[in-house]
Amino acid sequence: MSEYTITVIKNENPKPKPAADKLKFGKYFTDHMFIQDYSEEKGWHNPRIVPYQPLVLDPAAMIFHYGQTVFEGLKAYRTEDGSIKLFRPDKNMERLNRSNDRLCIPAIDEEFGIKAIKHLVHIDNEWVPHAEGTSLYIRPFIIATEPYLGVNPSSTYQFIVILSPVGAYYESGINPVKIAVENEFVRAVKGGTGEAKTAGNYASSLKAQEIVAQEGYAQVLWLDGVEKKYIEEVGSMNVFFKINGEIITPMLNGSILKGVTRNSVIELLKYWDVPVVERRITIEEIYESYQNGGLEEAFGSGTAAVISPIGELAWEGKKMEINGGRTGEISKRLYDTLTGIQYGSVRDPFGWVV
Ligand code: PMP
Repeated sequence: MSEYTITVIKNENPKPKPAADKLKFGKYFTDHMFIQDYSEEKGWHNPRIVPYQPLVLDPAAMIFHYGQTVFEGLKAYRTEDGSIKLFRPDKNMERLNRSNDRLCIPAIDEEFGIKAIKHLVHIDNEWVPHAEGTSLYIRPFIIATEPYLGVNPSSTYQFIVILSPVGAYYESGINPVKIAVENEFVRAVKGGTGEAKTAGNYASSLKAQEIVAQEGYAQVLWLDGVEKKYIEEVGSMNVFFKINGEIITPMLNGSILKGVTRNSVIELLKYWDVPVVERRITIEEIYESYQNGGLEEAFGSGTAAVISPIGELAWEGKKMEINGGRTGEISKRLYDTLTGIQYGSVRDPFGWVV
């Protein structure tokens, strides 16, 4: 189904590119964007790459009122030989369609989505930064565009892809962060939208994040929405713990986002014969293992940071310092290997890089 061609209208007024040391996450955008429309009569149609520009939407467009929207996040990397690579884009398109299904948005053609991303990155290839650790962040998203105030799925949509050059996540090497366990607010519940990458999940997470930031924490550790007992995610990352030599990550339960990095970490650990399990894990178990000396490492995983070690975990007035507040051995090995595969300095035995 991916035979339709993409119309291209070149931007005649390209912008100056920001200097590598000025790059921030999601602040600058490239010269072009991809757009495709959906209507009930025509399905997904009119795919085009056009100059980056504001959207014109009716104020009654359903996206503004009921948040019927989904998004993705992945990166293009400039490798050592100068070529540009994507990391597992098929996984992002697969997840986009799972999110679409949850939000009653019509499925996209996943193969065509990858083709559109590759075409757009190719056109804006000069925007893929060269400096170490930098990349081009790719943000595909879909919005409900029908002007209608009834609470219904929209009959029209736009699938859009924008690109943003981003700096190195860690300015001076991989660095542990302080995390606070969140006991009041929850991110998602089973049966809700936690498994989908949709705007509302992020809007509802802001309050908790704002409060812990004032107390000096980088992110919150989310517990389950019912018993507030089981660990779910950390900020907008999946989470892993190393306890007595075994790596544990919360199993996918319907409220946890199925991270591409999470899956890559699990695959790598299996490849290395490091014991790894996906299971339910409580915050009490983490505290007990901390007290008896079994808690060796903790880290988040996600596209932005790849691996983000947790140096301190605060829970109900108790502070757990993990691995002396330093980056653990397995966190470092995972970070070096994953970024090595992405930037082409480490052989990719899985065929992840395209
Ligand atoms: N959980 C949440 C809530 C996220 O937003 C993200 C970022 N997409 C992740 C986990 C990590 O997913 P990935 O490894 O695919 O970036």
